[in-house]
Amino acid sequence: MTDLSPALPPHHPALSAADPELAALVGAEERLQAETLRLIPSENYVSGAVLEASGTVLQNKYSEGYPGRRYYEGQQNIDRVELLATARAKALFGADHANVQPYSGSPANLAVHLAFAEPGDTVMGMALPMGGHLTHGWGVSATGTWFRGVQYGVRPDTGLIDFDQVRDLALAERPRIIFCGGTALPRTIDFAAFAEIAREAGSVLVADIAHIAGLVAGGAHPSPVPHVDVVSTTTHKTLRGPRGAMLMAREEHAKAIDKAVFPGLQGGPHNQTTAAIAVALHEAAQPAFRDYAHAVVANAGALAAELLARGFDLVSGGTDNHLILMDLTSKDVPGKVAAKALDRAGIVVNYNTVPYDPRKPFDPSGIRIGTPSLTSRGLGTDHMAAVAEWIDRGVTAARTGDEDTLAKIRAEVADLMAAHPAPGLPV
Ligand SMILES: *Cc1c(COP(=O)(O)O)cnc(C)c1O
Repeated sequence: MTDLSPALPPHHPALSAADPELAALVGAEERLQAETLRLIPSENYVSGAVLEASGTVLQNKYSEGYPGRRYYEGQQNIDRVELLATARAKALFGADHANVQPYSGSPANLAVHLAFAEPGDTVMGMALPMGGHLTHGWGVSATGTWFRGVQYGVRPDTGLIDFDQVRDLALAERPRIIFCGGTALPRTIDFAAFAEIAREAGSVLVADIAHIAGLVAGGAHPSPVPHVDVVSTTTHKTLRGPRGAMLMAREEHAKAIDKAVFPGLQGGPHNQTTAAIAVALHEAAQPAFRDYAHAVVANAGALAAELLARGFDLVSGGTDNHLILMDLTSKDVPGKVAAKALDRAGIVVNYNTVPYDPRKPFDPSGIRIGTPSLTSRGLGTDHMAAVAEWIDRGVTAARTGDEDTLAKIRAEVADLMAAHPAPGLPV
């Protein structure tokens, strides 16, 4: 791989002095994130402010419990940090209650199980290969081994959630919990339809908006809050915060959620992360973030149109949100081969199963892409033809083994990226 840019100036002086080996790895990652076109839909670039908050001395403090009810003294500042984060979460999403302590999305969802179900109880979610998440009762996850997971999917003809199946399954199984939301869903989620089914089945309805939280906050996707009992979300995807999670709930479920997170599942909260979540929520409440959320969706729509025009098959025929799931079967390239070739071309995606995939999860038919990161760098709909063209050339080069073309694309990508610096990265 050719070296496309000179070394960045020292960006972490203390780290560089104490541990040059590790500092060099961080510097290399900064450069990789600066030079590549990052299309993984669950990733983003946090702001310099979020990055700074997550690297503070709040890291040094233990604070098991909740503000005003801690098991350790010296919480004068920590309590205020956590109260700021929860108040901002409630205001931004219009929720009764917010808990910002879950370490990440997976523990947040395990806490939801702990709050509302007993081991062995039935829980329901979307199947992983259909676009659901592991932690919605899928077999290899604790949520699918300690609980009895039943799973719904999408219709083979439309690629859209099969609400007849959701309803039949819910009424037959009467699950304690129904999860809606997922990791590879390119379309708007109909929370009201899920709510009606959950009411009939007597189930607690949880919307897992990990992927779309930023779109919801920015008004570019309908909010689940009026319809569901609990909202689970990561904070590091479209919401553009630090790696972490939040649970929001109706007041009647507030105690159950808090008890499940601590002491049910976790010990001390990661206060530096709580602080960075507070900063991200503050940023997400600004008018500019609404523009960002809408631009993410506009970019994805434009990119989908450009890909369709180049003969690509997209699951569900397109996208309503930040995410596009491409089925490469008709291009005669396995998803993993395409993903690895695109990576060599400076375009970072992940290989992904498509619904009813005849191939195996570790070697599936599709790739999953999204626009949160490129939009954070200021790319707009005008740029999406170029992005689609690179993907098209890259996928063709993957099939023919044309490494020269991949290297050429990598240089072109780096040029465009250099003109659009990413938030939070040294320039
Ligand atoms: C990313 C994601 C999670 C898990 O989050 P981690 O922080 O990786 O544990 C949970 N649910 C959904 C829908 C996700 O997309």
